[in-house]
Amino acid sequence: MEANEAREKILALRAEVEEHSRRYYDEDAPTISDFEYDKLIHTLMDLEEQFPQFLTPDSPTQHVGGRVSSKFAPVEHEVPLESLMDVFSHEELFAFGERVDGAIGGSKMYDVEPKIDGLSIAVEYRNGEFFRGATRGNGQTGEDVTENLRTIRSLPKTLKNAPERIIVRGEVYMAKETFAMLNRRYEIEGKPLLANPRNGAAGSLRQKDPKIAAERQLDLIVYNIQLATREYRTHAETLDALTEMGFDVVPYKLYDNIRDCVEQIEWIGANRDAFPYEMDGAVIKLNDLAQRAVLGSTTKVPRWAVAYKYPPEKKPAKVLDIAVQVGRTGVLTPKAVVEPIRLAGTTVSNATLHNQDFIDKLDVRIGDTVWVRKAGEIIPEVVEVDLSKRPAGTVPFRLPEVCPECGSPVVRDEDGAAMRCTGAECPAQRLRNITHFAAKDGMDIDGLGEAVVESLVNAGLVSAPADLYYLDAQSVATLERMGKKSAENLIGAIEASKTQGLARLLSAFGIRQVGASAGKTLARRYPDLDALMAATEEELMAIDDIGPVTARYIAAWFASPQSRHQIARLRDAGVSFESREELTDARFAGKTFVLTGTLEGFTRDEASAIIERFGGKASGSVSKKTSYVLAGEAAGSKLTKAQELGIPILTEAQFREMIG
Ligand code: NAD
Repeated sequence: MEANEAREKILALRAEVEEHSRRYYDEDAPTISDFEYDKLIHTLMDLEEQFPQFLTPDSPTQHVGGRVSSKFAPVEHEVPLESLMDVFSHEELFAFGERVDGAIGGSKMYDVEPKIDGLSIAVEYRNGEFFRGATRGNGQTGEDVTENLRTIRSLPKTLKNAPERIIVRGEVYMAKETFAMLNRRYEIEGKPLLANPRNGAAGSLRQKDPKIAAERQLDLIVYNIQLATREYRTHAETLDALTEMGFDVVPYKLYDNIRDCVEQIEWIGANRDAFPYEMDGAVIKLNDLAQRAVLGSTTKVPRWAVAYKYPPEKKPAKVLDIAVQVGRTGVLTPKAVVEPIRLAGTTVSNATLHNQDFIDKLDVRIGDTVWVRKAGEIIPEVVEVDLSKRPAGTVPFRLPEVCPECGSPVVRDEDGAAMRCTGAECPAQRLRNITHFAAKDGMDIDGLGEAVVESLVNAGLVSAPADLYYLDAQSVATLERMGKKSAENLIGAIEASKTQGLARLLSAFGIRQVGASAGKTLARRYPDLDALMAATEEELMAIDDIGPVTARYIAAWFASPQSRHQIARLRDAGVSFESREELTDARFAGKTFVLTGTLEGFTRDEASAIIERFGGKASGSVSKKTSYVLAGEAAGSKLTKAQELGIPILTEAQFREMIG
């Protein structure tokens, strides 16, 4: 590879890695599996090794990835909380052993431990009392989360026979059982579910309110002494001492050479299910602390340990059915219903098929045997079809043409692979449609956010946007946390929204690609909803700023019986369909005007504003595309050019007449 090409690749990879780190650390919403993320980092590392001239300290391969939020007091780590170097194969593991042998002679012991997938923290004890705890943050500085940590039962508040001062490193995690129990409860309570145990732990430990951490029932397991006012010689000795002090300590097994470590690595991998926590690998560490000190660390990782990462587990399963779910935004998502299999510690009976393109690419059919993969937190997905096991008589699978929830036509997004239900009254989209209708850019109904909409829907009081206008204060007041006064206020706000006008109403409908701006454009062109509904797709397309795709979405939406039913209900309720925008004039709409010379009655800016208000455009130079030249006193070269090109010239008097 040429240096130039390598540089481009390195920069692109860095940007990709940083983007995934942001999603993972800042938003708790990764879009790729950890395994895929780790592979990206490795590709970047390999390239940087081949082309060291492009390696700079700000590369994500050179620093610990986490962030420090200003919500918490910073804690400087006296001993940095480092990351670990990954290995993905036995060869890479043995190469690590050779590096160690190359650096230090004599015999070595290695310790193998499970790698717990939680949140790294350091806890400090003074005179045996829990003093403070902090997240890893960027490795040098962490966040003070002492109060949240106090809620953890497995964190000893007092140690037995402890050194005067000790800082211990460990992992805060949510037990798999707790995760399942909480999600069962959240489902019943209609709360959003936790995506995975790791996010469940990270998300609550970094909340200001310790009650949230307490509710999540987190646990702590420790695996290192960072600093102590007592001497230890080996890692195993420190782990045993931590057990005696009263900590939950990571289980470990010692080997006197690196090759034998494979036995325990494989055992941990095969028995992942049996551990109470999620794990994403095994950690192999040099046992002798003096040997560790000789090896030291890079800016990011110690040279005396590696993390062996297990590949995502993959298993075959038979596809019993392909079910189609309609999401809150109307997108149809197919998933394979498979014969239950155990995968990475959980029972899997569904695997996503993403969309029609994905199904077509793999040619997944009902009756097939497919390979299902679960990689970390990402939902299980079908990765391959085992064609050798395909039974006779299967047929290619097509997503339905009508919505399985409401029977409305399904259309494919013009700008992607998603298939979407077009039903304005589709029950799957109810919550989103009504919330969107009432939102700021829509009918702007004060006090009608998602939570209130949800209670209205759950109470059976509304099932589509137009139902809002048929509510009465008495029934609204029966809702939990509502009360008479707020119910009256809400009804008042709904009533007031009736006169918001066409632009907002159009934006409130939630037609694809029709937001506040397109709503205004349309309301400038048509005096009311009926006039707009009478327009053909071609006519809509001809409007500036409305492209053919948007025109098609609009026409399809108005053609749907559910939309028409909504419109009729809105009309009966007395919602205004009239435009409140300045209407455009056909003599101006889409026309380009060039101003030249001095006008008597207007400044140039005023004249331009008037032209724009009527739907025209004011431009600075004359070309074949100019529709009119408005010529004032002492008009110069622009007038001459317009005459040469045969462009109509307007006098100020004619312009005044046009604008009435
Ligand atoms: P890492 O998590 O792979 O390894 C280091 C961590 O392992 C330590 O911080 C420590 O907290 C933990 N650990 C658990 N058990 C341990 C034990 N017994 N001994 C020592 N340490 C132990 O690497 P990292 O740089 O700290 O974090 C990156 C992690 O976040 C990776 O797993 C990566 O895949 C994931 N990530 C994923 C995405 C994504 O988009 N999916 C994005 C960013 C980061």
